[in-house]
Amino acid sequence: EPHNPASEYFTSYEDLEIHKLMLEDDPRTSAYKNAIMSNKAFFEGKVVMDVGCGTGILSIFCAQAGAKKVYAIEASKIAGLAKEIVKENKFEDVIEVIHSKVEDVQLPGNNKVDAIVSEWMGFYLLHEGMLDSVIMARDKFLKEDGEMFPESATIYLSPCSVPSLYKKWDDFHGVSMAALAKQFRTSKYNKPEILNVQAEDVLGCDEVALCWINLKEDTVSDLDSYSIQHVVGANKDGAFQGLCIWFECVFPDLSDNANHNPVRLDTGPLSTPTHWKQTVIILPEEQEVELGDPIAFQLEMCRDSVNKRRYNLQLSILDPEAVEHPLPCTCDLTKC
Ligand code: SAH
Repeated sequence: EPHNPASEYFTSYEDLEIHKLMLEDDPRTSAYKNAIMSNKAFFEGKVVMDVGCGTGILSIFCAQAGAKKVYAIEASKIAGLAKEIVKENKFEDVIEVIHSKVEDVQLPGNNKVDAIVSEWMGFYLLHEGMLDSVIMARDKFLKEDGEMFPESATIYLSPCSVPSLYKKWDDFHGVSMAALAKQFRTSKYNKPEILNVQAEDVLGCDEVALCWINLKEDTVSDLDSYSIQHVVGANKDGAFQGLCIWFECVFPDLSDNANHNPVRLDTGPLSTPTHWKQTVIILPEEQEVELGDPIAFQLEMCRDSVNKRRYNLQLSILDPEAVEHPLPCTCDLTKC
């Protein structure tokens, strides 16, 4: 078999465990359910496309909310299960499961849809690159004034402590194992950690937005690279040991009432943990900071030129006095 990252990507979604993990991620599944159900007035009688329907759950939410037709598109073999679940819920007249990559789909009579629903988010939001497919589907299938669920997404950053790779090993059952922790960190140099950062380990007094993605307008090439240089104050005395990355998605609130309150799916360290956890770029050496100290850094997130589903993250710790000039001592190139 020739190495084909595209087909590998879809076969990974044949694994039921992955779907169970996503379904049981309550902040995730509830956000979609609430976003769809709180917009029943919109969904009533509408035509919807679910890009990457998996087990079909989001399509069924749309049908329950009154959609007249849902195209449930799924490239992996899990599409067969989606068909069964649609039947089990007696929505086979509403939901049409199409076992195909969305890129290859043709709708009868070149039909357009009123809304696209999709759960495309990966680690640090963009890992997996599935958003490219959603944007392509939007440009091909969404009506001019159609809606996107979610409609925007933001990547946030904050300095943090990572006790599991630092402090924990200073006194491990009464034994100091700093040398081992240091080797662990060195081995993490080329890959960020996926872990739950505890609220007390967040070190920045403010979260910093790396980018804001408008799902209704941004293009695939807009997703190629993001970069930020920022100075943030330490919110307490502590050890700066990593840069924590997470995302938030916002859904449309199409109700008429004045106090708009859109549903948000926040995967940050201060919210209920999700299966995305947070992505942390670990610093090989920590920096002690005191309350109010400036922490300056630069992060570049660039799509890999070979594997478009991956990004290279490059973190530089800067001298806050001269933010333009990275200190060479603590540069960290991270491929993931
Ligand atoms: N909507 C489901 C599954 C989300 S996971 C849920 O919320 O539980 C994303 C799914 O999208 C996977 O099943 C994957 O196989 C599918 N997918 C990713 N890219 C796709 C594409 N280009 N065309 C069709 N399906 C795709």
